[in-house]
Amino acid sequence: MDDFTVRGEAIKEEAPAEHPLDPEAFLEDDEPTLRPQNLDEFVGQEMLKNNLRIFVQAAKQRGEALDHILFAGPPGLGKTSLCRILATEMGVQLQTTSGPSLERSGDMAAILTSLDENDFLFIDEIHRLNRQVEEVLYPAMEDYAMDLVLGQGPSARTIRMDIPKFTLVGATTRTGLMTKPLLDRFGFSARLDYYRPEELKMIVVRNAKILGIPVTEAGAQQLARRSRGTPRVANRLLKRVRDYAEVVGDGNIDEETANAALEMQGVDDLGLDRTDRDYLGLIIDKFDGGPVGVGTLSVALGEARDTVEDVYEPYLLQCGLIQRTNRGRVATRRAYDHLGVLMPNGK
Ligand code: ADP
Repeated sequence: MDDFTVRGEAIKEEAPAEHPLDPEAFLEDDEPTLRPQNLDEFVGQEMLKNNLRIFVQAAKQRGEALDHILFAGPPGLGKTSLCRILATEMGVQLQTTSGPSLERSGDMAAILTSLDENDFLFIDEIHRLNRQVEEVLYPAMEDYAMDLVLGQGPSARTIRMDIPKFTLVGATTRTGLMTKPLLDRFGFSARLDYYRPEELKMIVVRNAKILGIPVTEAGAQQLARRSRGTPRVANRLLKRVRDYAEVVGDGNIDEETANAALEMQGVDDLGLDRTDRDYLGLIIDKFDGGPVGVGTLSVALGEARDTVEDVYEPYLLQCGLIQRTNRGRVATRRAYDHLGVLMPNGK
């Protein structure tokens, strides 16, 4: 471990990122009222919620901190919301940070020493922690301790310092990039999957009510169907469709208004946006349907490779529009059909 000093400086929260689906946009919360406040308001993921209820109840009965938790899954599916809900249920404070914002082991040490007993520490994009920072976490998670190296060279010695018992909640879009020692230290891990249209419809109806937007059943259904299985996208589209309904229509969101507004936003009937279609178009038109490497696709799209892999591809895979092979990405027949392109013979 490198030599570090524990600095008392405040933990800086990162500025919110631009991309609405960007994993790092988690700190941005322009819609605090739309965030579910308890497990009953959190729609869907029933099995996970039941497990969490038991997990929380048991820890409360024993008067202990919750074991460390890992939430995995694409951005916008509720990882941050669940963490906040659990902290509230446990009646503890929550500190949030993200993997890429912790550069040195001292940054991690400063956060750990500032925690109170049973507090929650939320680390988003935990797979992007660097090795040195991650190593500070191992004894912290396992023994609630930190190893401090004093001095340098042959006279250096390590002293162990106790830290309060805390709960680490990690969120990741890519479990595959996490190291085994870190993964092994989570007592509870769960994967969040894309939501079904019925669930998204419940979210749309609930949020339209909170925001005072009149929406018909069919209007909500359209929004739900086209939100790429993602509550955060549903919330964003609801607001954009509201704008359209207020300016172009009579303020009501019915099926026709929803469809027209979504077309204008470039969102098609599968919920794909322009970048998704550009991605498919590239594979089909420029690379003969594939296989083509993700690096090449990212450059051609002008998007960061991480964004392509974490945000775009999981949904395209889920829709059966692409396949991942060891030689690269391949467009499926469904992708040709969706773009209205004839599939060449022999494909
Ligand atoms: P993540 O941390 O996975 O990127 P968030 O927890 O920030 O996702 O969720 C984004 C937004 O989507 C939340 O502010 C909330 O409004 C909404 N949301 C997510 N999951 C649910 C859910 N299960 N029920 C209702 N709203 C949800």
